[in-house]
Amino acid sequence: MRLKQRVALITGAAAGIGQATARKFASEGATLVLCDRAADAVQREAQSLAAAGHRAAAYTLDVTDRAGIDAVMQDVKGRFGSIDILVNNAGITQDARLARMTEEQFDAVIDVNLKGVFHCTQAVANTMLEQQRGVILNASSVVGIYGNFGQTNYAASKFGVIGFTKTWARELGPKGIRVNAVCPGFIETDILKSMPPKVLDELRDACWQRRLGTPAEIANVYAFLASDDASYINGAAIEVSGGISL
Ligand code: NAD
Repeated sequence: MRLKQRVALITGAAAGIGQATARKFASEGATLVLCDRAADAVQREAQSLAAAGHRAAAYTLDVTDRAGIDAVMQDVKGRFGSIDILVNNAGITQDARLARMTEEQFDAVIDVNLKGVFHCTQAVANTMLEQQRGVILNASSVVGIYGNFGQTNYAASKFGVIGFTKTWARELGPKGIRVNAVCPGFIETDILKSMPPKVLDELRDACWQRRLGTPAEIANVYAFLASDDASYINGAAIEVSGGISL
């Protein structure tokens, strides 16, 4: 129960890694604030956590909508009193080779994966500064370490998230707030559905554990980083990939 008495807000919490992280945090005693643009799915997820005896609330939130983010943060503060953990997990892909990538594809991915992280963090930072404590966790990727074919927009966003992490660790660390990034390898979620089976086989072969990861394996690392077990980890970008970058 490492997250007892903590209020954790997770974006993109209705599916995949965000959903697994919400479930793991709940099992560690946290109060969950689940945010997702998928309204029905996020409601269902919060209801299923509540039915299992956890404290959980759902918000329909698109991380590209700053006014919506501010409204949710205000409401959460009024309802639960604090925001102790922010997991900037919402993310999308819109892949194309450089020569074919449209400006719309570029902007869509940057707006969610990079600007969304900026907006959500800026919106909770004041609350955490008032509390003089907090943990911010950002979803990067191994693609934010070594790039990837067909992912100009996604790679830029995930490199950028590591830049945010190291900058905010400096700015907020002295005020009692830790900021870290997680760089998953290739994890079995809907986000991989657009990849051809042949590419997925190549990714399995390139991994030194010869398999894709599971959402729960990423959730475990978020839970560790959110907890006091990681009390001296700040500004890190932790790769969780079965060693794919070796
Ligand atoms: P997923 O597609 O399974 O789930 C993403 C969730 O985010 C969905 O519920 C979706 O509705 C929500 N979402 C998307 N855009 C949103 C927006 N604008 N506002 C609010 N919610 C939004 O994805 P996943 O695989 O669980 O990925 C989660 C995060 O982990 C992403 O940031 C992704 O880039 C990162 N990541 C995933 C992998 C992987 O292999 N799955 C690897 C590295 C990094």
